[in-house]
Amino acid sequence: MKKIRFRSLRLLPLLAVLMGATHTLAQTTDKPVQAAAGSDFVLAVHGGAGNYNKMTAEQIEMRRTAMLQAIRVGYAVLAHGGASIDAVEATLRVLEDTGQFDAGKGSYYTQEGVPEMDAAIMDGHTLSTGAVASVQHIANPIHLARLVMEKTPHVLLVGRGAEEFAKSQGIELVSPYYFYSEREWRRYQQANPARENKEKSALPGDEEHGTVGAVALDQAGNLAAGTTTGGTARKMPGRVGDSPIIGAGTYANNASCAVSATGTGEYFLRNIVAADICERVRYLHIPLEQAANDVVMKELAEQHGDGGVIALDPHGNVATPFNTSGMLTGTVRTDGKITLKGWARNAEPMVVDANP
Ligand code: ASP
Repeated sequence: MKKIRFRSLRLLPLLAVLMGATHTLAQTTDKPVQAAAGSDFVLAVHGGAGNYNKMTAEQIEMRRTAMLQAIRVGYAVLAHGGASIDAVEATLRVLEDTGQFDAGKGSYYTQEGVPEMDAAIMDGHTLSTGAVASVQHIANPIHLARLVMEKTPHVLLVGRGAEEFAKSQGIELVSPYYFYSEREWRRYQQANPARENKEKSALPGDEEHGTVGAVALDQAGNLAAGTTTGGTARKMPGRVGDSPIIGAGTYANNASCAVSATGTGEYFLRNIVAADICERVRYLHIPLEQAANDVVMKELAEQHGDGGVIALDPHGNVATPFNTSGMLTGTVRTDGKITLKGWARNAEPMVVDANP
């Protein structure tokens, strides 16, 4: 009986994503999802590289719970035969809304005490891509990035222009109070203003990060990647990190791989990290794991560039190297087993069913 009902509702999650109805999706996934017949699919998500030792056990638990909630939504899209780009957007929208990460509602503040967010999304099949940077009044920057990709001839819109475009698409501009939380206000006040104008302040070493990103491979064999962030804590107003820069923090190409990065963006920009990993796979014909490790664990580490990536190739191989003490990740495949790990380097992975 249940099965029949679900077959008839197969495309509901997908439609809901397209209509921007994340809540409908979250409700839909409360019920068991049967994977449709097709190639195996994969979704991998990160919640920021950094030092999770600075977080309380309760905060880590809240992040894990939020990540599970988001992965279940993305899993439902893929299991119903949806496109990887829809799964990536749907997953990241949930993470933006939870307020638990440095993205959307939970974004870190700039030196001026307001968030400025960056996001990018890329389709590995068509190489279509869209991004936004330095937006201050957008609840879901990843959705706006998707609209830039689909509704404009451009790849990247910033600041006022991006927000004017959002309005033209019927997106409500939210007030800075939407992004207020005691946690972020405290982080803002505790940061050391004396260091602010030196480069070091924007390059915090093994700090806590909370950028979120996702990579997915769908049943049709197409890759996609997306990243959304409030950037580094107390960054200079107008500073843009790697996340919305295609090839630095976000990249997807069916010919090689999909990557979403997290860490101190200046290093990822200088090293065009996401594209470099994929081009190594493409031109050197080396395994994804080796390419990702060489870039993150050797080259970035030698430069003291803190961070990590999630990377996925068209065969479903996943690599999640990080040179910080932690990087929360969650991965789910066709079998519906979600593996969460990375809140500490040697943390015992947790395996949870995608069907609660
Ligand atoms: N990469 C992001 C940035 O530099 C920050 C992060 O991943 O935490 O904007």
